[in-house]
Amino acid sequence: MTTTEIKRRDGLARTGIFTLGNRSVRTPAVLDAAALFPDLMSMSGTNVPLAADGDFVRMYHMQHGDQPVSIHPYLDNPASSGDCVLVANWHTALENPRDYVTWLCALKEKTPPDTTWYASAAALPSNLHFLCYSGFDLFDFYAVDLKSIQGIFCIPEGEFAQKTIGSEICTCDGCRNGDLRQHNRLALLREISLVTQFIELGQIREFVESRCRLHANHVAILRHLDNRYEVMERFAPIARGGVMRVNSGESMNRAEIRRFAARVVNRYHPPETDVAVLLPCSAKKPYSLSVSHRKFRMAIANRAHELVVTSPLGIVPRELETVYPAGHYDVPVTGYWDAEECAVIAGTIARYFEKNPYRRIIVHLEGGALKVVRMAAEICGITPEFSCCEHPASPAALSALDDALAGEHHSKDSRLHGICSYQFGIEMDTRGFSVRGRFPALFYSRERVQCFSIDTMTGMLRPTFEGWDLIPQGYRVLIDDFVPEGDVLAPGVKGADQTIREGDEVLVIGSRAHATGRASMSGVEMLHSKRGVAVRVRKVKRV
Ligand SMILES: [Zn+2]
Repeated sequence: MTTTEIKRRDGLARTGIFTLGNRSVRTPAVLDAAALFPDLMSMSGTNVPLAADGDFVRMYHMQHGDQPVSIHPYLDNPASSGDCVLVANWHTALENPRDYVTWLCALKEKTPPDTTWYASAAALPSNLHFLCYSGFDLFDFYAVDLKSIQGIFCIPEGEFAQKTIGSEICTCDGCRNGDLRQHNRLALLREISLVTQFIELGQIREFVESRCRLHANHVAILRHLDNRYEVMERFAPIARGGVMRVNSGESMNRAEIRRFAARVVNRYHPPETDVAVLLPCSAKKPYSLSVSHRKFRMAIANRAHELVVTSPLGIVPRELETVYPAGHYDVPVTGYWDAEECAVIAGTIARYFEKNPYRRIIVHLEGGALKVVRMAAEICGITPEFSCCEHPASPAALSALDDALAGEHHSKDSRLHGICSYQFGIEMDTRGFSVRGRFPALFYSRERVQCFSIDTMTGMLRPTFEGWDLIPQGYRVLIDDFVPEGDVLAPGVKGADQTIREGDEVLVIGSRAHATGRASMSGVEMLHSKRGVAVRVRKVKRV
């Protein structure tokens, strides 16, 4: 009897608990595989090369009834929820970045989400971050022990000659004793602790972006994986607390960043105002709390729709400034935007203005952001006006902005309307709503009944039951005829909207009760998992 319970997810990476009989292991973990799976040593046909062709694999791959269940990219899935699945020879995939991504996506597609993934004889301190980032949970000491026999000193930065052990690069017990085998094992255990820490912080991506720099293949795999946006997006949480560090060229292609830009263009509905002002970003988030944005807002005085031009998100309408990751990213500011950055962001801005025409577009920008908007204007054929002289927040520039808006009408706050369209994909009639609270902790009510509030961690809307009444469809989780006591677990879910991502606000609907809460896993995972929390429930209402 085996069970797998996923506790935390961060993209494909996760932490969890794997139980085999009476033994439980917290994952990710490096352990003595022979002790956990004593039969594995004698299981034949579980070590078929990944690169073998389909006929060969079908001929030689053998399925035993025991754990772990061996899976192969070219075979139908033999695993069930809870199993430990073994992918043999995965270290060879690391040498072939394209195949790595093809095989990984094929395996993820057909294997139940609540399985523990074991990469046998593959883990080294230099690749463990990548294996965990790819969704592997369980590892053994075979690869490092082999390096020890070969006289190779292993650390996360790479593999070095045995004599390195005396160099004080590492001061573990193994190094102090001159014991290479002990050092290599301890280095692997240290790395798995570090990886676990970053998964729990929701920063495995940042960790991998920094760790992978010394390994060309790892960088290549990261880029190929990002190109599989439709796969990576399904696993990317819709929101996190904390800072998203956007420090490398690859950060621009993160699923969360691309999804934000895609939703601004495809889902988001701007207010009715037909005058737009393009503004620079600020280091402080949300932008409204920065000194420069206070000045911009004073000068604009609600006479235009405010759009912030920023790398790497592209364009952030004022209403979405709190929303993850717009309210959470931190990016190194040099004033220089590279060619790829400019092309991607100009494309996003052009698509936005093609979809949402304005009577006037006033550009209050300088430097890289100004250059990008000029590129966008050429692509989509808009004719912007320019109001920035000296620095955007200088008195002269602010005065020019004020003058440019002379005679334009004041418009109402449209934050609720904007976030609703971005988050739930609907255009809601927000007439009659009142707002109270201190930004960004805002509460929206209608006829004195609170319908929505802004979650200050994620910057997204939290609907009450009355709020859900205004969202006609989507983000629903269907349960059986029970009243949830505490959270809704995956086996209790009978149906789930497939657009639901981890972190989304959802409405739970059952014949005996409704509940509001936040999804702990994607809609797909809710339907295919036998364990784990599906929805963290906030409120329950009997019906
Ligand atoms: Zn050491």
